[in-house]
Amino acid sequence: MWEKTATQKSLQQLREQAVHIFGPAAGYQACGDIGEGRMEDPASLCTMAGNLFVSGLLSGKKVVITAGPTREALDPVRYISNHSSGKMGYALAQAAVAAGATTVLISGPVQLTPPERVKTIAVESASDMLYAGLDEASGADIFIAAAAVADYRPANIAEQKIKKNDENMCIQLIKNPDIVATIAALPKRPFTVGFAAETENLEHYATQKLHKKNLDLVIANDVSDTEIGFNSDDNRVLLVQTGSSKALPIMNKNLLAKKLIEHIASLLNTPPAIRSQH
Ligand code: C5P
Repeated sequence: MWEKTATQKSLQQLREQAVHIFGPAAGYQACGDIGEGRMEDPASLCTMAGNLFVSGLLSGKKVVITAGPTREALDPVRYISNHSSGKMGYALAQAAVAAGATTVLISGPVQLTPPERVKTIAVESASDMLYAGLDEASGADIFIAAAAVADYRPANIAEQKIKKNDENMCIQLIKNPDIVATIAALPKRPFTVGFAAETENLEHYATQKLHKKNLDLVIANDVSDTEIGFNSDDNRVLLVQTGSSKALPIMNKNLLAKKLIEHIASLLNTPPAIRSQH
């Protein structure tokens, strides 16, 4: 129904009269089809309506952020994961909503309270995070991948708890999908931002990641830096984009998130050909 010419004609008429249109969301339809045409969920509608009265750098924009670790199940009680706290992603969501954006936070398991006015989707595995990311990326202006996604997952998830029998045990792992690269490869891709945590050659590896994953910006940090740990409240980053890089001083993750959102907003409003001057 959404795609029918009559519906689209009416929408076009409304757009020409500067009427704001929210949605539609995509997914399963009551009729059994899958695709665009669902009503946005009520919480998002409230946020989007509220944002019309906020004048910020990202008013009218939709920002999707991944945060935290992923958990890759081995059996019903065990998983492979990492120590990501999710602080950077949550701080970015807070800064994005404060800048007036309709903000969606797709979060792995963390000990943090989701920011107010942010639609938060709790996920466990990299596959869950990918599906939520693909669902939310349609209509998004900016996608920021701050999650520490597990690179591999167990090839098989045992249905029952694995028993300890032998002295050694082998677990076969298979590669997880690259979420940010998948989003960056979409035909109608949002402005896509990735992180790069490196222990050496920061700029070199971040530039490689920028090109390999087809990103617009890479936020790189040196995780061998003893001043700032994986779980720290502070961070020091290097912003890497095509043709230029810029180092920011060490600062609290909340302030850094605000600066990053400002930087991203300014790049979004700059034609790609002159972005390297920013
Ligand atoms: O390749 P690497 O893991 O170093 O890349 C880090 C960046 O890619 C981060 O932005 C992270 O959120 C994203 N990523 C992802 N999906 C993966 C692995 C990393 O989105 N499977």
